[in-house]
Amino acid sequence: MAIVGEQVMSGGSVWAGRWSWLATAALFAAMLPGLAPATAQTTSPSQDPSSSPVPPPSAPADTAPARPQTAQDRLTTWRKQEDRVLAIGERISVAAANAGWCDPGQSLGWTLGEIGQYPKDLRQAVKNQWRLPEGAVLFVASVAPDGAAARAGITPGMAIVSLAGRSPMRNPYAMPSRHALEASERLIARRLENGPLQFETLANDGTRRSWELQSRPACPTRFELSDETEEQAYADGRVVQVTAGMGTYTDGNDEELAAVMAHELAHNILRHIARSQEAGTPNDYTRYLNRYSRVSRKMEEEADRLSVWILHIAGYTPSAPVTFWQRFGPNHDSAHPYGRLHDPWRTRVAALEDELRLMRAALAADPQARPALLELRHVVPIFGQP
Ligand SMILES: [Zn+2]
Repeated sequence: MAIVGEQVMSGGSVWAGRWSWLATAALFAAMLPGLAPATAQTTSPSQDPSSSPVPPPSAPADTAPARPQTAQDRLTTWRKQEDRVLAIGERISVAAANAGWCDPGQSLGWTLGEIGQYPKDLRQAVKNQWRLPEGAVLFVASVAPDGAAARAGITPGMAIVSLAGRSPMRNPYAMPSRHALEASERLIARRLENGPLQFETLANDGTRRSWELQSRPACPTRFELSDETEEQAYADGRVVQVTAGMGTYTDGNDEELAAVMAHELAHNILRHIARSQEAGTPNDYTRYLNRYSRVSRKMEEEADRLSVWILHIAGYTPSAPVTFWQRFGPNHDSAHPYGRLHDPWRTRVAALEDELRLMRAALAADPQARPALLELRHVVPIFGQP
């Protein structure tokens, strides 16, 4: 899906979904740190502006007049997609780590939420949904099936009142912000390097409980849902983000969403952003795109090819990316004026089918076969001349 570096976190909220829409912005913004993502172009170059808009996530299936979407409706839709993203992300990430395909990392198998990450009109619905105690800042938003948190008996809606001995910082901001969440994630990552995570939860009835949660190996990538209607997914090297629009597009078809997410995880496993940066990037945007488009297409192909293997070891259908593109491609295939950052979808399908053949032959010869693509993880790409 989205090219590596197509999006960059601005430090805004997942709800506000403020990853810049500028093509290759992760790298470009790295060159121009002052670039305000909000001023970037609002249309992704990989998207066809004429494609049909995403229907409202909770549009009723019958012919009754649509009632206005309530905060609770929006939250219900959000939670459903967030659960899918976490469950699929955990499954592909743990499988890839167990196979030794990525750098070592740890997963607790949960997604944390912060009241302040939601728009103001949703915050009360969030508190009501979980019956969160007054003053709660952080809570468990989603738990992956069979993950570390689920096995320990942790359930969504538990308010976290202390984390590694510290209280989560309160977020008084009017604008959505994930300040406390980001700080907590950093703290958790540091703690997990040395053992289990200690934290305390507070139930609505005032019951306080201490936990010690042991993580399990997973790739060092966090999986998130973003509040965007565009049908997209992004990877920035440490986070894979799936838009709510993509969640809706693949609703009821986890194989398709797994195909999209395996491609993004492949970008992170293959260190695409890091390798691009190691190669050096032109400091002029037009030159940057001219030079980058060839490297980008190559990296997209690598991510497509590795996704087939990831799906296979995670127990998904390895040909799911092919069927996804046959449905998605015809309405979502356009080139950026300065150059293509992805190959046309039919070219991508041909490469996917080629890799499926290679993988099946390799696995027939050796059931433990590793994808040869992994050898590229530390190869610096050559930009060549524009
Ligand atoms: Zn991609």
